Amino acid sequence: MAKTGWVIFAEEQCKGCELCINACPKKLIFLTERLNQSGYPVVGATETDKCTGCAMCYLMCPDLAIKVERWTVP
Ligand code: SF4
Ligand code: SF4
Repeated sequence: MAKTGWVIFAEEQCKGCELCINACPKKLIFLTERLNQSGYPVVGATETDKCTGCAMCYLMCPDLAIKVERWTVP
């Protein structure tokens, strides 16, 4: 069975520190050119179908700006 996942960012909580970018073993997270209302650049994810739901990004984020969903595909 393959495990898969989904990552969601709370952009208003993000400070653009890039810790999650370095933490993702699949290199799915990148810094966008968007700024949140506090003026920080925010992250996004690409090729999200490759997300395994490992939650390394979630564990690394100091601002609780990441939510990870994980499920199993039969
Ligand atoms: S859950 Fe894992 S694979 Fe998915 S974006 Fe976060 S660090 Fe990357
Ligand atoms: S670790 Fe959290 S605060 Fe830092 S860039 Fe990633 S989502 Fe934003």
